[in-house]
This record gives sequence, structure tokens and C-alpha cells, in this order.
Amino acid sequence: MTDVLLEIPAVVDRLRAAFRFGRTKPLSWRRGQLGALRAMLTEQEGAFVEALRADLGKPADEARRTEIDFVCREIDHTLEHLDSWLAPEDAELPATLRPGRGTVVREPLGVVLIIGPWNYPLQLVLAPLVGTLAAGNAAVLKPSELAPATASAIARFVPQYLDQEGVAVVEGAIPETTALLEQHFDHIFYTGNGVVGRIVMTAAAKHLTPVSLELGGKSPVIVDTDADPAVTAERLVDTKFLNAGQTCVAPDYVLAVGDAAARLEPALAAAVRAKFGDEPSDSPLYGRIVNHRHFDRLNNLLASGRVVVGGQTDRDAKYIAPTVLADVSPDAPVMSEEIFGPILPIIAVPDVDAAIGFITARDKPLALYAFTESESTKARILAETSSGAVGFGLPVLHLTVPSLPFGGVGESGMGRYHGKYSIDTFSHLKAVLDKPLA
Ligand code: NAD
Repeated sequence: MTDVLLEIPAVVDRLRAAFRFGRTKPLSWRRGQLGALRAMLTEQEGAFVEALRADLGKPADEARRTEIDFVCREIDHTLEHLDSWLAPEDAELPATLRPGRGTVVREPLGVVLIIGPWNYPLQLVLAPLVGTLAAGNAAVLKPSELAPATASAIARFVPQYLDQEGVAVVEGAIPETTALLEQHFDHIFYTGNGVVGRIVMTAAAKHLTPVSLELGGKSPVIVDTDADPAVTAERLVDTKFLNAGQTCVAPDYVLAVGDAAARLEPALAAAVRAKFGDEPSDSPLYGRIVNHRHFDRLNNLLASGRVVVGGQTDRDAKYIAPTVLADVSPDAPVMSEEIFGPILPIIAVPDVDAAIGFITARDKPLALYAFTESESTKARILAETSSGAVGFGLPVLHLTVPSLPFGGVGESGMGRYHGKYSIDTFSHLKAVLDKPLA
């Protein structure tokens, strides 16, 4: 057994003891830790940017925007509102219980395990940590072994900046995660795929530990006949090819209504060239595929349709060009699983009814997007489909709004976080009834 495996029970015990002694509960500790986390991100920005480049070829600006600044904004928003979020909430009492007082009090849960994935390896470990600490909990972080440079930067800097009695980092892969999951936690927050999500939930059941599962899936985009092709294409390219398509809420495929595909195809080709140039492999704005296993998986999907733009690959460089495929059949390999890479298939559907039917016949997505000028079509989409989130006219960016809940439904996950929703996820909402004795 490795040293890490042997140490895991003691690490969790140490945090639990600190929690029991009340170390993590004072508001001053919570605020102090959030401030220290922010200092870590700003003072070590260069090291994190370099780690993200090493793991994912992530462009520096994108690394700052989608990982470092993202978590800083979450911290700032939390610090600004924390007092009001934690204030006891009055609850109306029935007449039969008056006089008296009902309140809802938020109390910390205990020790939280946060298991992160490789695609936003910093953000997806630290953004849940913000809510965990703000709610007064201790935390174990398990970053993804598939982004090893970022995982090791987290393991190096977190103990330097944060209270080691309250936060620990455990590096490792399946054996270490399995050993962690044998421990008793008070909440497990897992981001990744649904197969492992089931393993996490099964392990959690042994201890009756509540879980948040932030999973993925195929997030569809409906493009209506009245949508401006240039605006639609520009926004699709900006969001689909971010992090080379390796984003959980990336537009997965387009359902082009009526004759929309004929206008959208050239607009998408133009938007790709406008953003990344004629040779995207030279673009400083474009990342790489995380490893050769995912490169090979994605490479096999490129034959699923007619190439509108892109299609070039370089296995040594783990490069796949931003690619749009047209005339894609619903049965094509690219439609069989979440793409999680820079390939955007377009499927033609006759009308909005067919688009809605296509979506509701499949798993509930993490996000559903639509480009339409029609308010009645928007209302129909909201009423007739279910998804973690909906974005009209703009994919992905809903997750940057700290006052919106972020999470999935059905196969795309359970639970929600960001801002106040994180406080509720990482707190117990305790009901208090206070009846005067006289
Ligand atoms: P991954 O392979 O890095 O796995 C995630 C974590 O699970 C890692 O820490 C890993 O060590 C652990 N793990 C892997 N196998 C395990 C096992 N057998 N037992 C215990 N732990 C194990 O990441 P991934 O799953 O490839 O991530 C991609 C998926 O995550 C996609 O489906 C994507 O859509 C989803 N995702 C969702 C969100 C969201 O916020 N909802 C964000 C990012 C990614």
C-alpha cells in the first residue's frame, strides 16, 4: 500500500477533530480562509496558468478567465453576501402555535469530500471549496490525476495558504479515490462522468452521506429559422471550442430547424476562421485534447458527417481542429455519447416540434440552448423540456452568473451550487421552534 493510501484515514480524522472542536465554524475563520484562497490564486497565478498549459495546452487568457478569475469572482460574491445568507430566516408560524418564533438556521455539515475532473481542473475543485468553507466545513480535495500538473500545484499551494487543520489535498487516481470513499464524510461533491458518479453514490450510501453529482451529457442547441446566422455562429464557436470543446456545458450538437442549416453552415465556417485563423493549430486562442485516449476517441467520431470546416488532426500534438459536421444522422457514432471535444454535428429537423421531440426522447441534458426570436418558442422549450439549465441566445455563460444555481437533472446530475446555492448545499437547514414558557 502506498503512503498516501495509508495516510488517508488519519487525514480525515484530523479534519473531523478540528471540525468537532469548532475550528471551522467562526465567521472569522470562514472569511479568513476565503481571503487566503483568493491570495493563493492571485499570488500563484503564474504557476497555475503554467500548470493548465502543461495539462491542456490551455491558453493563458482562457486559463485566467475560466479558472482563476472565475473562482475569485465566486469568492468575492460569497464574501459580499455571506452575512445575509447565514442569517437565521424567520418562518411563519400557524396561528395555533403563536405566540412563538420559527426560524431556519444554517449549520455546517462537517467534513466534505470534493472530487474534481480534469477539464477545468482548478475551477472545479476550488469553486465548490468556496461554498464548503463559507458554510463552515472542513474539506478534503481530490483533484483529477488526468491533469497532473494542476493537481500537483493544488497539492503544493493549498497547504501553504489554507489552514491545514481545515483543508487537506489528497492526490491520486482510482485507488486513492476508492480509499477516500471508504471514509465517512458528511457530504461528497463529485464532478465527472456518470459511471463514476454511480460508484460515488454507492459508496456514499454505506455512510448515508448526501452527494452532489455534477455530471455531463449531450447539451443540445436548437437553431430556429429566424435566428441570425452570423450572431448564432459566432456565439456557438466562442462557446463550443472553448477548452477545445472539453466543457461539460459545451453545445454538444445542433438541431437546425427547417432550412436553418443551409445558412448556419457557411456562417460557422466563417466564424471559426474569424476566431482561430486559417490554421487554428497556430492560434494562441486554441487548446489541446487532454490525452491520447481522448484524442483517439474523438478522431473516430470525425467520420460521422460531411466536414463543413476543420477535420485536421495531429496525434503527437493532441490537436483536433475546430470541426463542424453536417448531414449527421441521429444514429451516427458522434451522437452516441457526450462528444467532449471540438466537433459540432448539425442535424436537420423539420420544425420546432421535432427538435423538442428529439431532446425529450433522450437523457435530460445538463444544458439546453436555443437561438430563436420567438417568445412563444422559448416558452414552449421551457415548458416541454427538462434540463439542468437553459440558455437562450448564449450558451455556457449561465454558469458564470453566481446568483444562478448550477447543476444537472436526471442523468446530468443531482444537486446545485454557486453562490447562495453552495451555502445551502454545504449546510444543514435546521428547523427551530421557540415557544415561550409563559
Ligand atoms: P476524470 O476522469 O478526471 O474523473 C473525475 C474524478 O473521478 C477524478 O478525480 C478521478 O480520480 C475520479 N475517478 C475516476 N475513476 C474512478 C473510479 N473508478 N472510482 C473512484 N473515482 C474515480 O473526469 P471525467 O469523468 O472524464 O470528466 C469528464 C466528465 O465530467 C464529462 O462527462 C463532463 O461532462 C463531466 N463534467 C461535468 C461538470 C459539471 O459541472 N457538471 C464539469 C466538468 C465535467
